[in-house]
Amino acid sequence: EALGRRELEMHLQPLYEIAPQRIAGYEALIRWNHPERGAISPAEFIALAEETSLIVPVGEYMLHEAIAALVAMRNAGIEPLPFVSINVSPRQLREARLIEQLLVWLKDAGLSTTAVKLEITESQVLDYRHVSELLSQCRIHGIRVALDDFGTGFSNLSHLRELAFDTVKIDQAFVRDIKTEPRAVAMLEAIVALVHAIGADALVEGVETQEQLELLQRLGCRYAQGYLIGKPLPLKQVLERG
Ligand code: C2E
Ligand code: CA
Ligand code: CA
Repeated sequence: EALGRRELEMHLQPLYEIAPQRIAGYEALIRWNHPERGAISPAEFIALAEETSLIVPVGEYMLHEAIAALVAMRNAGIEPLPFVSINVSPRQLREARLIEQLLVWLKDAGLSTTAVKLEITESQVLDYRHVSELLSQCRIHGIRVALDDFGTGFSNLSHLRELAFDTVKIDQAFVRDIKTEPRAVAMLEAIVALVHAIGADALVEGVETQEQLELLQRLGCRYAQGYLIGKPLPLKQVLERG
């Protein structure tokens, strides 16, 4: 119903590439503007949508919106074109059509497969077979895949060993206390080194201070995401900012 009433909206949050100091991409985050309850956090409704399989049409809507955003950015002359990173829930992975659908839409829009990235959350029970299938399918087509929220929840190191993710998104828990906790800095440093050692890019989430960004720069971490760089905004405002 929310889809039909157009209450769902995609917001985009910048993904900052630290060394060249540029916005390399955006993460697509869903928003639900409920007529009576106001803005409802995805943290509240995504889990429910998963249980009821409604995540499938919602996920398709987000894929569609992400592609529309890329087309709008291209038409606005934004160059080089940033990539859009899309959250994919475990339930969607079981739909074989996901990649096929994405490929058709990319082709129709005249976009390269490198224009999108997929994010798979590691805090949920990772469905190994489906994820490895998705990874090999994506590899063939040149679609990059990120492991999301690494370091919380299940944090299974064999996932890192066995599944060749392009990017590992390190949860904000590791950057939050670097000011007061020497152990947090040591952990972050070791995780970034581990991610690099397996040939993946590291992205740290929830970067809110200049001090945190400077630490990431020192550690050679490729990407940073967080309120310091920018909050999630509707496409219209992203375009206004160029
Ligand atoms: P996530 O994928 O880890 O997304 C990052 C969350 O951290 C977002 O919350 C974002 O607004 C927030 N965030 C970003 N920078 C900062 C910061 O500097 N400080 C703090 N405190 N928070 C920051 P949001 O948008 O509420 O999304 C919550 C979760 O909902 C997401 O976590 C993701 O797991 C899920 N989600 C959002 N959109 C979608 C979607 O389209 N599909 C699926 N399957 N899940 C989604
Ligand atoms: Ca994410
Ligand atoms: Ca995350």
